[in-house]
Amino acid sequence: MERTLVLVKPDGVQRGLVGRILQRFETKGLRVVGLKLRRFPEELIREHYAMHAERPFYASLVRFMTSGPVVAVALEGENAIAVTRNLMGATNGQEAAPGTIRGDFGMSVSFNLVHGSDGPESAAKELKLFFGADGDLVDWTPTLESWVYDQDDQG
Ligand code: UDP
Ligand code: MG
Repeated sequence: MERTLVLVKPDGVQRGLVGRILQRFETKGLRVVGLKLRRFPEELIREHYAMHAERPFYASLVRFMTSGPVVAVALEGENAIAVTRNLMGATNGQEAAPGTIRGDFGMSVSFNLVHGSDGPESAAKELKLFFGADGDLVDWTPTLESWVYDQDDQG
């Protein structure tokens, strides 16, 4: 089992898409283990996107991500990081494949509705940033879990 951080960005919240976006992850079989809506502090957003600090879009990205409420979601599942990234689609909504969140709901490269951690290290860092050192996350097993994963699956 792996955990990853998803953010529904301000455009997704403003457009009333929080429910439909979360539904994509839930119906896929990923488990919500953390959920919060906040206007996150600029310092936190700067740290979250620190790897892009030198990119030309950094300032506008920080402005966008602090322009309104964001929903932070912690998801758990087998290969949760890659599964989540696949459900999100390519960065640019105009290029993202139909069926993906960005492909179905967006037309922009900056206002692209969702963030998802891109690897185990960033997932650990980002989960800690948005949820603290595990304190806000919930360990639980859905009753229907045995119908999501086949225990006989080989590797
Ligand atoms: N972004 C942008 N302009 C660009 C590239 C990216 O505004 O030319 C924003 C966009 O919101 C994107 C975020 O910066 O989601 C982080 O960029 P990254 O390349 O990591 O894309 P992601 O991993 O989110 O697909
Ligand atoms: Mg990225």
